[in-house]
Amino acid sequence: MTQAITVMWFEQDLRLCDNPALTAALSESHIMPIFILDEESAGMHQQGYASRWWLHQSLSQLNKRLNGQLNFYKGDANSVIDDLTKRLNISKVYWNRRYEPWRISRDTKIKKTLIDRGIKVASFNGTLLNEPWTILKKDQTPYKVFTPYHRKIVQTGKEPNTVSSAILPNAMVCDEQAILLEKLSLLPKHGWDNKFHEHWKPGEAEAHSKLQRFLNKGLTNYKDGRDFPALKSTSTLSPHLHFGEISPRQISSCLLSVSDDNNREHFTRELHWREFSYYLLYHWPDLPRNNLKKAFDHFPWKSDPTNLMLWQKGLTGYPLVDAGMRELWQTGFMHNRVRMITASFLVKNLLIDWRLGAQWFWDCLVDADLASNSASWQWVAGSGTDASPYFRIFNPITQGEKFDPDGAYTKQYLPELKDLPTKYLYRPWEAPSEVLKNANITLGETYPLPIVDIKATRERALNAYKQALQTFNSYSSQI
Ligand code: FAD
Repeated sequence: MTQAITVMWFEQDLRLCDNPALTAALSESHIMPIFILDEESAGMHQQGYASRWWLHQSLSQLNKRLNGQLNFYKGDANSVIDDLTKRLNISKVYWNRRYEPWRISRDTKIKKTLIDRGIKVASFNGTLLNEPWTILKKDQTPYKVFTPYHRKIVQTGKEPNTVSSAILPNAMVCDEQAILLEKLSLLPKHGWDNKFHEHWKPGEAEAHSKLQRFLNKGLTNYKDGRDFPALKSTSTLSPHLHFGEISPRQISSCLLSVSDDNNREHFTRELHWREFSYYLLYHWPDLPRNNLKKAFDHFPWKSDPTNLMLWQKGLTGYPLVDAGMRELWQTGFMHNRVRMITASFLVKNLLIDWRLGAQWFWDCLVDADLASNSASWQWVAGSGTDASPYFRIFNPITQGEKFDPDGAYTKQYLPELKDLPTKYLYRPWEAPSEVLKNANITLGETYPLPIVDIKATRERALNAYKQALQTFNSYSSQI
């Protein structure tokens, strides 16, 4: 009989430090690190193209740090683990808990099967500061609104306890039947992702360097600068956090030494928004598909493939919206304020269902995250539990003038408007023909005319919302 093996199952915790499941596994003698690309269980929530690129790079980094001994598999995790336990002398399986509904139901099943077979299973919290079931109202029901939730976690906040760095054994168990990383076929075939290398460096080492750079430089202007896309005052840690290359505990622990209370609190609040998104997804598992406010089930969304495509390509004729959508396409990322503006434009000015916007973001974002993406889209649409009120419709003209006043961000992604004076940048159709000529712009040719009228579509959105509410109220009063 060969020696008993402890499996360490990596999934969204692609790091060696502060990884509680790995630390526990390392206290056992024979450890076998594995990663399973389980698209079968993910179903409609299979990763989008941009995040597949990130995953490939991140796994490659992790594998290097594990001396090339990470075992890769593809397929339904239940069957993969079942096969492993039949072929090898596995006595324990450890992982860090995940919170997507499909992963919860899959992992629950796997846990039960393993325990029934006499195999020890242990799962840990490696992803959140507070797991969703630990924060409840006095009546033991979940919070629906961020502010009281936030107050509660701040009040009950514990000092983050990080797990020290992992010391790896020289030899880990390698399974002959594991496949190579390349066989997971994570990289898109069309080469769209080639440009991502210019913007991103996935992996645990870069996540920590980035955090240090942010703490040394970016954080001092976080509160005032975070809404201005050209200032690059935010951390851009979201993809690293999503793939677990760094944990929120590690970030919180580094923040303890920051003396600038104001900026630290603002930044921590954003980390809590991430937690709240996971919280909503856990307590309302249909968050990615269904409106949390049922009145929105009666919303008269428009089926408009042409406008959807123009929005996706950044050809709406509203420069800030177009700059954001092109930033997304070119870099796999979009600044938070611009995410809100582009999302509001789709849902309110174009009356296109938020789920179609969420799907496009899902495919294009390197930080695509089922919890944050779904919660944020429902927030913008107004259909979430704690949502932006429906009548809050971002005006892409005034938002541009306020948050990108000299047009640095907008012109970076719309070089065809680089010579347009700032006065007309967010309303090029109002520029006199001489001004357009001097800037080499022919509206409708070198840059589009607006696809909708902003004022008229605002009114249309408000009426649509009133109509949906009325239908909902009269329907509810009948039952
Ligand atoms: P920072 O300002 O440096 O914030 C630090 C961290 O806090 C982020 O890395 C992120 O993990 C978290 N965070 C910040 N803001 C939010 C927020 N509003 N909601 C949840 N977490 C937040 N974020 C994702 O990680 N994945 C998504 O798929 C995603 N989709 C979004 C879709 C829409 C329509 C909108 C409006 C927002 C979305 N966000 C998403 C939230 C937010 O835009 C990004 O987390 C943020 O822009 C990441 O940049 P950063 O790392 O520089 O943030």
